[in-house]
Amino acid sequence: MDDLCNYIGGRFVTHSDDQWLDNTEPATGSHICRVPLSDSSDVDAAVAAARSAHLAWSALSHSERADWLDRIADALEARYEDVAALESRDTGKPISLARDVDAQRSVSNFRFFAGILREHEEEVFEMASATNYVVHKPVGVGALITPWNLPLYLLSWKVAPAIGMGNTVVCKPSELTPMTADLLMQVIDEVGLPAGVVNLVHGDGAGAGAPLVAHSDVDLVSFTGGTSTGEKVAASAAPAFKKLSLELGGKNASIIFADCDMESTVAGVVRAGFLNQGQICLCGSRVLVEDSIYDEFRDRFIDAVEAMRVGDPSDEATDLGALISGQHLEKVQSYVELAKQEGGNLLTGGAPCMPVEFEHGNWMAPTVIEGLSPDSRCSTEEIFGPVVTLHPFSSEDEAVAIANNTRYGLAGSVWTGDLEKGKRVSEAIETGMVWVNTWLHRDLRVPFGGVKDSGVGREGGKWSLGFFSEAMNVCVKHD
Ligand code: NAD
Repeated sequence: MDDLCNYIGGRFVTHSDDQWLDNTEPATGSHICRVPLSDSSDVDAAVAAARSAHLAWSALSHSERADWLDRIADALEARYEDVAALESRDTGKPISLARDVDAQRSVSNFRFFAGILREHEEEVFEMASATNYVVHKPVGVGALITPWNLPLYLLSWKVAPAIGMGNTVVCKPSELTPMTADLLMQVIDEVGLPAGVVNLVHGDGAGAGAPLVAHSDVDLVSFTGGTSTGEKVAASAAPAFKKLSLELGGKNASIIFADCDMESTVAGVVRAGFLNQGQICLCGSRVLVEDSIYDEFRDRFIDAVEAMRVGDPSDEATDLGALISGQHLEKVQSYVELAKQEGGNLLTGGAPCMPVEFEHGNWMAPTVIEGLSPDSRCSTEEIFGPVVTLHPFSSEDEAVAIANNTRYGLAGSVWTGDLEKGKRVSEAIETGMVWVNTWLHRDLRVPFGGVKDSGVGREGGKWSLGFFSEAMNVCVKHD
């Protein structure tokens, strides 16, 4: 595999300094490619390219830009298997997941935003003596910064609405998973998108991300990543009043009532806890179970967790792959050690598990812990790995109190046969999104985002179109 290049002004270019980062496969530890460690001069060049493309691009109509999004979707779809294979190799996730979730959503993000752009209608507010109409103008140059867990899924979720609304952008993907961002630039180049509309700078947070957010010619920042990085991004963007969207960490509760359908609930809660090795911001890592069914649920849950196949990400039958890096594996393991100190009882997992032939990868057995206080650090802090804690509760109020007992407020799920109770409990949880009797059931039209330390603002559907534009009211007095 070649060294990667930045994509600036419609060309693949080398970065200014000869500093590189080794990109390795999480499953095997073997080398994939070198990633440019770009610096502020590369960021300057990318922002300048985005600025010079802005006037012409912002002058196109919504439907002309929607046509471009469709062309990108078609070209990306033609590379569907490449996206899945690269994403699986780069992140360590199972190929089936990379195909069904990452590749599928990356294509549908472009198609979906093309569709809603075409339907986007001018809002009009009539008064007795005047008519108001609302124009959605582009914001300008956007900085789009993404994490490693859903690399192209999240990058395409930002690029499509951002350029669809007439902005030009500079992308900064995670330095740990640069491969599909590079592939997207190849696709964008192939379809002939006007130069400078989408630019990409590879590199780490300090060298490339921070100068991009701070750049005086960047008008908007859409950031997805950890809460502590989000704090730095917010502090850097605030003095210039940049438009800012922050999608940050989570510590989500799955609340299981005694009247749930046991079989589908166990399957759903296992999926919520462990999909992508638990490395999804929406994962339900705290499982709260009504005390009358606690023992039965726990036993069936453990059986289902132990039945998951951990192994070769390229094997179609694999359920769980590797963790993203050695450093992240250490962090996740340190929480298991902490859980023991905090009085937790390890029910399964807890140790690294290294399938044969993969001993240099970052492997961790799916882990379930009970007996922790709902106030403990393991039960309230984001671990972001295959670790789930179980907690009994005896009333609706107690379940809601435990669910809300964290600094995060991103997502959650409620499992019950009583849909009125499901809705009542959902609305009492302090989060941006809750599912009832399902999880990660996504309609791209709905708002997505968190409260408390899980973020600021909403993206998704018309909320993305709103974020990536400035609404301007024009009031015309009648004759
Ligand atoms: P991270 O915060 O370490 O990095 C995210 C991105 O920010 C990377 O591209 C990184 O290079 C860049 N970055 C780092 N420091 C920066 C700085 N000072 N200025 C600008 N950019 C900087 O997060 P991560 O480890 O890549 O991802 C995991 C985190 O992302 C978890 O906390 C997870 O919950 C969160 N996440 C949230 C959502 C959501 O939608 N809420 C989705 C996926 C992941």
